[in-house]
Amino acid sequence: MSADPTSDNAPATAFLRERLDALRRTGLARSLRHLRGMPGPTVRLNGREVLLLCSNNYLGLAGDERVKEAARRAVDSFGCGSTGSRLISGNLELYERLERELAAFKGAEAALVFTSGYQANVGTVSALAGPGDVIFSDALNHASLIDGSRLARAEIVVYGHCDAGDLETKLAKRTAARRRLILTESVFSMDGDLAPLVEINALAKQHGAMLMVDEAHATGVFGPNGAGRIEQLRLQGQVHIQMGTFSKALGSLGGYIAGSNDLIRFLLQQARSFVFTTGLPPAVLAASSEALRLVREEPQRRAALWRNVALLQEGLREREFPLGPAQSQILPVRCGEDRGTMAACRFLLRKGVFVQGIRPPTVPPGTSRLRIAASASHSEEQIGAALDAFSALRSVLRSRSKKFTRQDSGVLASIPSGT
Ligand code: PMP
Repeated sequence: MSADPTSDNAPATAFLRERLDALRRTGLARSLRHLRGMPGPTVRLNGREVLLLCSNNYLGLAGDERVKEAARRAVDSFGCGSTGSRLISGNLELYERLERELAAFKGAEAALVFTSGYQANVGTVSALAGPGDVIFSDALNHASLIDGSRLARAEIVVYGHCDAGDLETKLAKRTAARRRLILTESVFSMDGDLAPLVEINALAKQHGAMLMVDEAHATGVFGPNGAGRIEQLRLQGQVHIQMGTFSKALGSLGGYIAGSNDLIRFLLQQARSFVFTTGLPPAVLAASSEALRLVREEPQRRAALWRNVALLQEGLREREFPLGPAQSQILPVRCGEDRGTMAACRFLLRKGVFVQGIRPPTVPPGTSRLRIAASASHSEEQIGAALDAFSALRSVLRSRSKKFTRQDSGVLASIPSGT
């Protein structure tokens, strides 16, 4: 074993071990899983083929042959790296094509691609708001919107989750602000519920506030062309800032903002996470363009996804798993207790189904859950097999308590490994 090279000054880093021990003690320590093979309906995990029911590959595009071929061709033509930030040497032709396609898809004047969705949110929010401004943020917004708000150093006013009434009250109390910016997801990443966008858009207009909507989990899934909830609700041309990412239903990588020409020109100058980072590699840009084409041209993928959502919803409810509002492809089974959630996750894995347990700080304390995500790539038989695993979980719970309640997590925590 090699000695710690910094052991001369070990006290300076003692907090690392203390913090790790505390996370382990409270059941909140995280670790990486080792996945192998092509992303699809199943995946190899710890040497076994398991059903993958927790990925964001909602339309099955991450392993699609045409998307892979587009990436391969881009490598042959343009190499592996973009060689610089976009404002220096990294602005490849593939970017320009992708942004034109994206703007048309989102019904916007222009679009700007960032290296990830996280960077799109952090850079955009912190460019649009600053000291003297107020950001109104849904209580369950994604970490990237929160981090962008903190970086902006504006006042942050959190309104109740999906509560347009609370937002209205809070907007009315902050009339003196220089600028006001409302932030919401359209499909919430961990709850799968839908923001009341029509009401929020009306409030933004009424109060002269900017509105930014994160469509990370709606793009590819909602709307006649798969452009998201804004398209579905006919709000294109009304929402100032449409955010999205290629990393979920489009199976690739890269975040983006769509909006007016002025907005895009402004972000190109001012969004630090755009200016100070290297552009995406050619293969990723080409894969995103091809995935975008497939989202538009193959609505049957959305139909297959919604069939699977319905099968899962019905099957889980029959087995008495509480699903909450469940309005999208994201189906959270609330377990409450952190250790119980992870025990349920391990139990399902032993039955051949991978559904990740989600704990704080990703979700608020006391709301740990199994985040089931449906995908168009699963066959009816595979959904049936997944539900069989949930039946087995239900049987274990039934033998020890009645419903999947908070107590169940305690019961689950005591399931011996190997059950
Ligand atoms: N917004 C939301 C709502 C998300 O769920 C995520 C990813 N978890 C992001 C933004 C960040 O996107 P990316 O993974 O492309 O960085």
